[in-house]
Amino acid sequence: MNWKIKIKDIITNKKMKIEGFYEKEYMDFHTGTYKVIDQKFYVKISIVYNDGTIIVGGLVKGKVERPCDRCLEMSILELNGTIEGIYDLKSEPNFKDSEIDNLKNVIYYKGEEIDLEERIVEALVVSAPDVFYCKEDCKGLCPFCGENLNKNPNHSCAEKEKYEKELLDSKFGKLLALKKKLNGNS
Ligand SMILES: [Zn+2]
Ligand SMILES: [Zn+2]
Repeated sequence: MNWKIKIKDIITNKKMKIEGFYEKEYMDFHTGTYKVIDQKFYVKISIVYNDGTIIVGGLVKGKVERPCDRCLEMSILELNGTIEGIYDLKSEPNFKDSEIDNLKNVIYYKGEEIDLEERIVEALVVSAPDVFYCKEDCKGLCPFCGENLNKNPNHSCAEKEKYEKELLDSKFGKLLALKKKLNGNS
């Protein structure tokens, strides 16, 4: 699919609807690069031209494989992004208002075509959460041995016992040494 749309076509048509699949094998997010399930995202976009302005709106949906932040198991993250953008073809950027324009997603544009791929990627990246759990009540990993506690909820940890024993021994050992010192036997 070609996501580059000629501005003169948009102006001629006034309204355009685009529906299709954005094909991608891997996708970069701020938390990592993930494999795209079925290697595509569903995209639906409408484009409206009015008086020097192009308004782009729509949605992008799909799934990626992402490791759970708690148990590290590969899980499926569903993404539902909102595509939006306003291309202002006639104004010059006003730097006083540039922060507001940023919030409104206004793009000052002088090119011959607009690239919808940029809007699709932006919508996906914005929709991805910073923290992801495979399920709400993911039990995570045993902090002592790394056992997955979802698969082994009744895990009794040998490493934990060893650690506690060592801790106890070292405390006990220090106490013994102190006692010896106090008694003057050292
Ligand atoms: Zn998990
Ligand atoms: Zn353990």
